[in-house]
Amino acid sequence: MENIMYKSTRGHGGELTASQAILRGLSPDGGLYVPDRLPRFDFTMAEAAKFDYRELSYRVMRQLLTDFTEEELRAACLGAYDSKFDTENIVELRRAAGAYYLELFHGKTIAFKDMALSILPRLMTAAARKNGVEEEIVILTATSGDTGKAALAGFADVPGTRIIVFYPKGSVSRVQELQMVTERGKNTSVIGVRGNFDDAQSGVKAIFSDAELGERMLRAGFRFSSANSINIGRLVPQIVYYVWAYSRLLGGVLGDGEPMNVAVPTGNFGNILAAHYAGRMGVPIGKLICASNDNRVLTDFFESGVYNKNRPFYTTSSPSMDILVSSNLERLIYELTGENETKDSAYMRGLSELGTYTIDSGERAGLSGFYGGAADEGEVAEEIARVWKSDGYVIDTHTAVASRVYGKYREATGDATPTVIASTASPYKFARSVLSAIKNTGEKYAATDDFELIDELERTSGIKIPPAVSELRTAPVVHTRVTEKTGMKTAVEEILGLR
Ligand SMILES: *Cc1c(COP(=O)(O)O)cnc(C)c1O
Repeated sequence: MENIMYKSTRGHGGELTASQAILRGLSPDGGLYVPDRLPRFDFTMAEAAKFDYRELSYRVMRQLLTDFTEEELRAACLGAYDSKFDTENIVELRRAAGAYYLELFHGKTIAFKDMALSILPRLMTAAARKNGVEEEIVILTATSGDTGKAALAGFADVPGTRIIVFYPKGSVSRVQELQMVTERGKNTSVIGVRGNFDDAQSGVKAIFSDAELGERMLRAGFRFSSANSINIGRLVPQIVYYVWAYSRLLGGVLGDGEPMNVAVPTGNFGNILAAHYAGRMGVPIGKLICASNDNRVLTDFFESGVYNKNRPFYTTSSPSMDILVSSNLERLIYELTGENETKDSAYMRGLSELGTYTIDSGERAGLSGFYGGAADEGEVAEEIARVWKSDGYVIDTHTAVASRVYGKYREATGDATPTVIASTASPYKFARSVLSAIKNTGEKYAATDDFELIDELERTSGIKIPPAVSELRTAPVVHTRVTEKTGMKTAVEEILGLR
């Protein structure tokens, strides 16, 4: 196996092994770690078709996380992708309404973030052992809803780790809040913040960069780390399911070497970047369709080469895509500049100082493999209804954004290449929007209790409520702590016994 090292997109992050990059998360120069090269897969797609998900994830990861031993990687894959998932295959590919829906929501929190967050804690603890880190790792996260529970579920009771999650009290859905506050892991803490997501996020950033606290932490045997989506340990596991999807279409739908398109509902640009990496490593991919909701900053970027976050922020029915700064895009920008850290840094300075940057025409040419498109709220509801009517298949709001944008792409180009749509959440996570779209009565169910809606969706769709949702009805609330935004640091100190 060739040795792969990791470097920062901004040029001053050193040369790290994979395990060091996973421990560090973000580079100290503000950049993101990228592999110094992307190897070609050392197996064929026909061979991949014979591997189960665990074996395939091991085969992919060992080519990128080269300083981990076979034993470490196999243990991580087996431990992560097990009966926590509600299907033996771990992911599923469903044909409906003219496309193939790649269901990535069969894990503990019924959203695709489980695919990476089930394995990241295992990679991180193995990385800590390899690098002689003796402190207990404390994962600190602010969440707007989905990431928090996926991280809690991933790190729960993982020896050598603790996890503290802050969420904006009152701005997450009832199901999302229950998922978090009923978390039973003994090393977990969940705290509501009186404020919005930005307050929680800035509070966490302030705690991370508090040098005095950092020193007291080290003396007490703790060290902070981050599980957010810029960590290379989240990106690599996401490459796997694109290989899996291609290999499952091979033979029947696709002939050897024939391309598939991939459509991805995009927020932070992590999931679609993984598809792009899968393509560079050897999965035959035609177009990568990058789908946005009303927050169409990426659509505009693909159309014009101008990234501009100076625009209104919309709250939509696909909240995990309500984002104006797509952090992982920096990895693609770095690639487009021909790995020029000076240019990358200049663009990112433009983004932080002026809120915008414009790539040059040579760099734009490098975007030819992508198509950017957006779907508004009305189109999302129509798409959920269309897919339901045509095949009795229910998709969630995020998946519907990608599904609708794929429809637009196909209309505009006539491209009939078989297309895989990343299906990122179970419809049960967003029952209110999904049900009003299917029923199409204009009813918004504003006053109806979430669990009544969930029952109604089950009666309407005939799809069984996932255990991850039904168990919330009776699960005891374990976490009741609420703090002012000024009290976040104190809360962390108390949890860790530092005061
Ligand atoms: C996080 C998330 C997305 C966006 O994925 P990115 O990797 O951030 O682009 C889409 N859908 C759902 C349901 C998510 O939770």
